[in-house]
Amino acid sequence: MTIVAQSATWHEKAARLKLEGRLFIDGDFVPALGGKVFESINPADGSVLAEVSSGGPADIDRAVASGLKAFKAGVWSRMSPRDRMAVLYRFADLIEAHKDEFAIIDTIDMGKPIAEMLAVDVPLAVLCFRFTAECIDKVQGSVGATSPDVLSYVLRQPLGVVGCIVPWNYPLLMTAWKIAPALAAGNSVVLKPAEQSPLSALLLARLFVEAGGPAGVFNVVNGFGPEAGKPLALHNDVEKIAFTGSAEIGKLMMTYSGQSNLKKVSTECGGKSPHVIMADAADLETAATWAAMGIFGNQGEVCCAGSRILVEKAILPEFTEIFRAKAASYAPGDPLDPATGMGPLVDFSQQKRVLNYIGIGKQAGAACLTGGGVPVGLEKGAYVAPTIFTGVTNDMTIAREEIFGPVASIIAFDGYDEAVSIANDTNFGLAAGIWTSDLGKAHRFARDVEAGMVYINSYMNGDMQFPFGGWKESGNGRDKCMDALISYTQTKSVWATIG
Ligand code: ADP
Repeated sequence: MTIVAQSATWHEKAARLKLEGRLFIDGDFVPALGGKVFESINPADGSVLAEVSSGGPADIDRAVASGLKAFKAGVWSRMSPRDRMAVLYRFADLIEAHKDEFAIIDTIDMGKPIAEMLAVDVPLAVLCFRFTAECIDKVQGSVGATSPDVLSYVLRQPLGVVGCIVPWNYPLLMTAWKIAPALAAGNSVVLKPAEQSPLSALLLARLFVEAGGPAGVFNVVNGFGPEAGKPLALHNDVEKIAFTGSAEIGKLMMTYSGQSNLKKVSTECGGKSPHVIMADAADLETAATWAAMGIFGNQGEVCCAGSRILVEKAILPEFTEIFRAKAASYAPGDPLDPATGMGPLVDFSQQKRVLNYIGIGKQAGAACLTGGGVPVGLEKGAYVAPTIFTGVTNDMTIAREEIFGPVASIIAFDGYDEAVSIANDTNFGLAAGIWTSDLGKAHRFARDVEAGMVYINSYMNGDMQFPFGGWKESGNGRDKCMDALISYTQTKSVWATIG
């Protein structure tokens, strides 16, 4: 009874929301110059949520020019650190005050369960702005140990206009991870959200100005990758591109930099992360709970998803059975219902892509233990049932390519060395996990595995101090932490002869 009533409340609140779809440039909402729009679709039922302005090169020019004007005027870039902090703290407070609105918008825009928005995405976005604000006056330059007749020092200064290109899986949170440090360092920002989830960034832009952020410092240009993202990444007045998305497009970002002004490029490009369950794991129930969260949480649309579950042969049948039971608790349903653990995928083309991978897995001879299709009764939405493949070998396509959906591949191994060898046999290197009661083995794994983040007896944990980013084709950038803030600055060496 309670659940039904709660769910009705969220539907009612969602129906009352007035969604803004225009671009946000120079402190105002404006239509795209060409007047082009696209529809934002609710993946739970295919309904149209809003018409969204579709930006192109001319809109990017306008947004970058506005960012550059603000940067050169110094209204933000030369604002005293304490004042910039105060604006970002107010911004964080406003995001918190609009928690329900953000939760609803991302839920209806990309399908994520509202419970996850309220427990994870919104609070972590707020924390990201607060943490980053706290760091502003902790980033300092240095004085050189040069001869007595010289005063040499290194200044850290903002870059200028930063382009942020983000994905759709955590629309608010991924945006926060990019724009918080970019803004905190004193840069101007032009944000290009993913075309599948364009709406929450517009509320964010309005709140930034409400918090006291000067016009032109934070601009949002929605649109498609080749039409809006590419001109942003090629722009000669953009000094850095901060990108999260596929490795394929991440590589393009480096090319665009080379074709234009050699702007800095930071990338976070997904993974095919190994989640290793050793036979000496203390508690298979707990391990299976985290393994299920690691691949079925957020519909498996998570860059550090533990999509390859490596299980030691001695416990394979026992673990597989427990894991299957855990998967059952991710029953797909209405994402606006607070009891739902899994929503639809972001859109129908992602659903098609994931179902195609499931077909490839079956054809390759992997056994589909559970799921494997569209859940009955949910055909109107972009749903895919939580799916487990067993008998997967690491050379199969489903073990090599990032599926970005609720598809787990169980791969059997014998002994620590084989686990590490399979774990590292991938082009990616974002995250890795291990369950073992042998401390030495756990820390050897942390040393041996090729990944930017390692979890021992847990998965996908972290903190704002904890750098987030990958090795190998998982990208070269680090979000969160102090390093992220520093990566939005550049040094200037000053040499003064005083003797
Ligand atoms: P996904 O496969 O998860 O959708 P993509 O890498 O395709 O990830 O997209 C991530 C972000 O990159 C999105 O904002 C998208 O619009 C943008 N993008 C896609 N193609 C390009 C491109 N050629 N140039 C610039 N940005 C792009």
